[in-house]
Formats: sequence, structure tokens, C-alpha cells
Amino acid sequence: MTVSAPFDNSYAALPDGFFTRTTPTPVADPKLLAFNAPLAKTLGITHGSTEDLAFIFSGNELPAGADPLAQLYAGHQFGNYNPQLGDGRAILLGEVLDAKGQRRDIQLKGSGRTPYSRGGDGRAWLGPVLREYVVSEAMHALGIPTTRALAAVQSGEDVFRETALPGAVLTRVAASHLRVGTFQVFAHRGEVENLRRLTDYAIQRHYPQADGPLGLLRAVCAAQADLVAAWMSVGFIHGVMNTDNCAISGETIDYGPCAFMDAFHPNRVFSSIDRQGRYAYANQPQIVVWNMAQLATSLLQQLDDPESGVAEATEIVHAMPALIEQAWLRRFAAKIGVTTPKAEDTALIDALLSLMQTDGADFTNAFRALSGDDAAGQFTDRAAFANWRDAWQQRIAAEPDPKSVMDAANPAVIPRNHRIEAMINAAVAGDMDPFHRLMTALARPYRETDADLHRAPTTQEIVPATFCGT
Ligand code: AMP
Ligand code: MG
Repeated sequence: MTVSAPFDNSYAALPDGFFTRTTPTPVADPKLLAFNAPLAKTLGITHGSTEDLAFIFSGNELPAGADPLAQLYAGHQFGNYNPQLGDGRAILLGEVLDAKGQRRDIQLKGSGRTPYSRGGDGRAWLGPVLREYVVSEAMHALGIPTTRALAAVQSGEDVFRETALPGAVLTRVAASHLRVGTFQVFAHRGEVENLRRLTDYAIQRHYPQADGPLGLLRAVCAAQADLVAAWMSVGFIHGVMNTDNCAISGETIDYGPCAFMDAFHPNRVFSSIDRQGRYAYANQPQIVVWNMAQLATSLLQQLDDPESGVAEATEIVHAMPALIEQAWLRRFAAKIGVTTPKAEDTALIDALLSLMQTDGADFTNAFRALSGDDAAGQFTDRAAFANWRDAWQQRIAAEPDPKSVMDAANPAVIPRNHRIEAMINAAVAGDMDPFHRLMTALARPYRETDADLHRAPTTQEIVPATFCGT
């Protein structure tokens, strides 16, 4: 038996201008590194041997029913518009309906050149493939909307990124790969028919209750507001929030230089290419709004009377900061044990964050410790923390079960950057044990299962930067 998936492809039925049919470029010696069997099951994928899986999820063999293609999109990269991006190293095999009846893309990433590769080699190396595998699955376990990882296959070929590195292919599963940039490309080219077609497709696939282009805008803004608040609540820094990396579905997508913060600082940046800190931790809410403004501009092009839509679109985008604040408050209130937040709670939470910042407290551990018996141990200025704690204790005095609320909102374990780096180094050396250890602990992030993985890095262990690694 080889690998079979119940493909039901809708994107391939869209007009030619949306994509280019392309097949994966076979790799020399595919070896399966990781396979997400529970996810495969929900997708109705059945499979035989490890070798079969390696062949299919490297792109060396196409499963029956696949209709492989590279999608076209554009995007603002660090604020500058790039008129043509597209899947330069990814190929959509097709879609399946999962156990809940939801349509899911199955995409190979690192599967060779496409017509959109520009100067690139269409490949990925093991580091970013395993980073995305671990972090996207961790996000899922944290309850945050995200693309998933189905498989990682080592290619048996070298990829050159200043130096020779082991190549790999990731199989990613997503609600779709529609991005803000998918709308931008048609809007900027003035291809209004394609823009209408895309809008209808996105509504049908993601927000069937949405009324027209502005209804779609409203729905995407709501989903993205929730998403960014969720990222903030776990100290996640996406790192490259370009409009081509911003999904219409509201899922986290494109885990390039992403990382979770250790010590709290609002200006924290990991990505080595983000020199201005455009995508710093605390800038993320503003950037999402900026991205939604680009989506609004693109969607407006198709209205018969764009002028009349401008006012409504402006109102929708302008309402977003308040939406994000509400979602943020709900998330952070839960982190301090408050179930029904009041506006004043913002000041209480900000006061705690500000203590964490001056003390360099570990974001994850300081919040997690609030429900334990030594929260003060996370802070150096004990007197300042004791003051804050008095105000906080008063606030939660009437809460029925603040400990349970906090323990469900404050993860014990996150994929810390130094652990990801160590896991990648081990995998390059042929040792997948650290990968499996991380995956096991991160599958239950709200439980204390592996004490050493909860520990913040020592000064020597800190890995302060990430590299796009494309
Ligand atoms: P990213 O920064 O990963 O979101 O990628 C931005 C754009 O560059 C996308 O259009 C990618 O498909 C393309 N790209 C990134 N790496 C490569 C590569 N190695 N080969 C071809 N295209 C690439
Ligand atoms: Mg991208």
C-alpha cells in the first residue's frame, strides 16, 4: 500500500491566472524524519511503510488525486510592495476535507523550483523545516490558530546557504494558503474579475456568513485581532509579518524567524533581518492593523462605487485597535486569574508587565508562577512585587477558582529558542531525540511534565537571534 489521501481540489478549478501547475522536483534520498499520524488520521490519509511516506512527502512520488500547483501572490515586505512573489519553494498538492468536514490544503515546502522562484533554489534546509514543525504544533497545542505540520523528510541533498546544509521538505496543512498578498496581486494589476472571483472563493471557504467584500474584511479583521492577542499572551514574536505571511483564514502562517520571548521586553526582536524592529513584540498589534488596511485597499477595487465603500472600510479598519485591546484584555486577565475583565484591569496587567520588564523576568515562568507558592521568586524587586500582589489579591478575591483559570492560560512549557537551536543542531548530527522530547512536552503545554524544558535559559544558553533561513 502506498499513501492515499481523499483529495477534493477546489483551488485548481480557479482561473489560470491564480496559479501555475508545477510538479515537485524529486530529491536524491528521501528519509522520513517526522510524521504526524494523528493529524494524518483526521485528514483521512492512509499510509503504508515509512519509505512510502518519505517518497510521497518529499515530492518524489505524487499521491493519486493530487493536482500540484504553485500559487501566485504579491505582498508588502517590510513595508515595501513586491508585485510578484508566489510559491517560490512550495507546491500545493491539493485539498482534503477533514474529519470535521473542513477543507485543508496539503502543501510541500522545499520541494523545488517553481515559476515564482525568482533567484531562489526552491529548497529548504533542515533547520527551518524542524523549527516550523515544532513551533506550529506547539501553537496548535496552545490552542492558537495555526497551520499544522504533517511530515518532515530529509532530502539527502545539500542546500547552500553561505555553507552546505542538509536539505529537507516540510508538509504543511492549512485552512488555506490565501494571504493578504493574494488579494493585493490582482488589485494592483487591476484584474478586477480575478479579484471578485478570489473574494467569492475566500468567503465561501472561510466566512460563508460574510456579506460581500466588506463583510469579508470585517471577518478577517476579527480573526486577525484574536490571533495577534493570542500571540501576545504567550510571548510569541512572528518575526516577518509581511502581507504575504498574513493568512485570510486567521491562522498563524510562515514560521520563518519566529521565536518565543524568554525575559520580557516589549521591544524584543529575534529576526536578524528586522534591523529597525518593525516586527518587534509590542508592534505586532499595529502591524496587523496595517496589514488589514492593505487588505481593505485591495478589496475596495472591486466595488462598483469604490468611493462609497471607503467610509465603511475605513470604519472597519479603525475599529480594529479596540478589538485587539478587548481580545488582549480577555487573554491577559485570564493570565492573572480574572474571568470577567473590567477596563481597570489593563492598568493592573500593565503594572505587572512593567515589573517584569525592569526585572528582566521570564515572561512564561513569571505568569505560570502566579498560581504557585513562590511567585515573588521570579522578581528581583521583591518589595515592588509585594505591592503589586496586594492589589492583585484584592482584585481576584471574589473569583471562584483563579488558580484553574491561570493554569489554563499560562503555559508551563513553550518552544524556547535555545531549545529549538539545540534540537536543530542535534538533528543535523543525526540525533532526533531532542526533537521528540520537545514534541512530547509541547503537546501538553499547560502541564508540568519535563522540568528542565520549563527552565529559562542561563546567560550562556540564550540564543538571541533567528535567521530567516530560507
Ligand atoms: P518568506 O520570507 O519565507 O515568506 O518568503 C518570501 C518569498 O520568497 C516567497 O515568495 C517565497 O516563496 C520566496 N522564497 C523564499 N525562499 C525561497 C527559496 N529558497 N527558493 C525560492 N523562493 C523562495
Ligand atoms: Mg511567506
